[in-house]
Amino acid sequence: MALINYLTKIQFDFGAVETLPDELKALGVSRPLIVTDAGIVAAGLAARVKDCLPGVTPVFDGTPPNPTEEAVEAALAVYREAGCDGIVALGGGSSIDLAKGVALLATHDGPLEQYAVILGGMPKITPAVAPLIAVPTTAGTGSEVGRGALITLRDGRKLGFIAPSMIPKVAVCDPELTLGLPAGLTAATGMDALTHCIETFISPRDNAVADAIAIDGAGRAMKWIEKAVADGADRDARWNMMMASLQGGLTFQKGLGAVHGMSHPLGGLKDPVLHHGTLNAVILPAVLRYNAGHVGDKYERLAAAMGLPAGADLAEAIEALNQRLGMPANLRAMGVIDAVIPRMVEGAVADHSTASNPRPVDAAGYEALFAAAMG
Ligand SMILES: [Zn+2]
Repeated sequence: MALINYLTKIQFDFGAVETLPDELKALGVSRPLIVTDAGIVAAGLAARVKDCLPGVTPVFDGTPPNPTEEAVEAALAVYREAGCDGIVALGGGSSIDLAKGVALLATHDGPLEQYAVILGGMPKITPAVAPLIAVPTTAGTGSEVGRGALITLRDGRKLGFIAPSMIPKVAVCDPELTLGLPAGLTAATGMDALTHCIETFISPRDNAVADAIAIDGAGRAMKWIEKAVADGADRDARWNMMMASLQGGLTFQKGLGAVHGMSHPLGGLKDPVLHHGTLNAVILPAVLRYNAGHVGDKYERLAAAMGLPAGADLAEAIEALNQRLGMPANLRAMGVIDAVIPRMVEGAVADHSTASNPRPVDAAGYEALFAAAMG
């Protein structure tokens, strides 16, 4: 039996940030904390959002590249000190996930670890989670409509905190905020969106609603990603990549797969710090090959939706796309060393995404996949 929830309220178009005051009011939030990072502040986007809001809005701009337990606690201290009663998450997946952690601990006793999904934490996360509005500034993560946050604990484990109450109350998707995103980040985050749509579509769980969203999103991402990378000011490309990203987020509650099973522990490394979208782009071809023969006719359907010629090899098409986008050739080129692989295999086996990979994958399977992705 499938449980299907779609999902939360979404404001989507150029100018959507102007809806923030009304949406906060509707949620009964009178003193929001903006959770973001220093780059977003430097790019003027925090000021753009603050200008929409009445009064002086406190800002936490200390979101690290991959959200950590320490940063959740630092933001929570600002939230409490400023007497906040809700959160506006402004940024990429890291800021949104960090804000989810703050919204959780603002109303639930610590430590954070007890709420991790693989430790049985899901039922402990109640609807008391503080109200959160997510405003993405990248087109890729989908976290603005996602039920989960990925946060690295002090001991280095990158764990998923997943529950229906973690979904932002409103997603405000304004493609205007992505116009200044550099080409490299546009490519990396866009590949995350494409990976969400592909992994979800081939996941074996029954959710035809998610499948329909996923295949449309995969086609849309494929059609527009290179245009958005080539010309960041192309408003149609930005609108469509933000839509593909949203679609990825709307569909991935069906369950992701081994690409994310591998990119989650890699994203928990402190050195080198690795970008989630870049990791997925680099890992995706190996996982597509591993899953071949376990997906029915889904590769053919994806290839058709993505505008590939009949008989095209999906893994090869992704490799060619990666190359055109300037993605690294493999994990080794990203600075991953062999010594960390056993720990990464362990993390991948334990990851919540592994259960919904179309072909069962155990430690030996992940060893082969990491070997392929290392190059
Ligand atoms: Zn992802």
